Amino acid sequence: MPAQILDGAAYAAEIRAAVTRQVAWYTAHHGPIKLSAVLVGSDAGGRLYAESQRKLSIKVGVQYELVELPESATQAELLAEIDRLNADPEVTGIILQLPLPGHIEDAVTQYRIDPYKDVEGVNPANIGLLFYGEPLIAPCTALAVTELIRRSGVPQRGAEAVVVGQSRIVGRPVTMFLLTHLATVTGCHVATRDLAAHTRAADILVVAVGKPRLIGPEYVKPGAVVIDVGINRITEETPAGKVVRRTVGDVDFGSVSKIAGYLSPVPGGVGPLTVAMLLRNTVEAAHKQLHRRM
Ligand code: NAP
Repeated sequence: MPAQILDGAAYAAEIRAAVTRQVAWYTAHHGPIKLSAVLVGSDAGGRLYAESQRKLSIKVGVQYELVELPESATQAELLAEIDRLNADPEVTGIILQLPLPGHIEDAVTQYRIDPYKDVEGVNPANIGLLFYGEPLIAPCTALAVTELIRRSGVPQRGAEAVVVGQSRIVGRPVTMFLLTHLATVTGCHVATRDLAAHTRAADILVVAVGKPRLIGPEYVKPGAVVIDVGINRITEETPAGKVVRRTVGDVDFGSVSKIAGYLSPVPGGVGPLTVAMLLRNTVEAAHKQLHRRM
């Protein structure tokens, strides 16, 4: 039987509708929710991404401002800008657009964002709280993956779960979430000797590597939940001989969909849900600022 498709775009629409109601309630009782996104340099991709964030924010009733710094901005100037946004009571959420110019350190800058305003959940303090099983604001992509697993209806407790790719922002937080839900988790990475031997045992398989179609059917246990986080732009020739650019995941969708029980597509799976989680984090962050504990 073909895999059931985990329709991230449809789930994202449901979440945005709920967030719209929550934002309206919050605004009526406590004033506007405002997101400030910081972009350093003139990266065209970053500006495009910011533009789509602006549209989605406004749609759910969140104010959005883009704070632009020149490519030549120093680490100290960027930190001073973050401090200003941290201190501004009208700003309830801060996004740091990546990539930053080479002379600026991502982690140092992310660490400076007030954990209560860190709507992407990238401050090491927020990632660290996951290890305690008490997230304040969790990384959006890890939340999206967790939501897709939840929507499959397959129990995590006692399940064999494998997470391929162990980055700080995606793979490791997903590993922690699965552990919190009492799955037995194996973390695979570049040094894993026999990847297929691990992935074939997985009831829940999450792939977050950034290698187009790394995972074929020979890596998948029949009936497994497969969540594909990868986003890869590739150029390939169609059977009709036309050269096309397309976005594919880390999982070979066509062949794996014949084996898996549940599969998230790329595009239309983790991606749209990640943006919905950013909006949900934004409203939750505003609420949590009303009752700060640190
Ligand atoms: P990353 O920081 O580059 O991490 C990739 C991880 O995969 C690293 O742990 C890397 O190990 C490991 N790896 C590399 N080759 C491997 C292999 N052959 N087998 C097993 N593990 C391997 O990337 P990321 O930020 O986690 O993102 C991963 C993918 O997800 C990318 O395609 C990215 O575009 C996508 N993504 C999607 C969303 C979304 O919203 N849908 C959000 C974030 C990321 P080493 O570090 O040791 O090399």
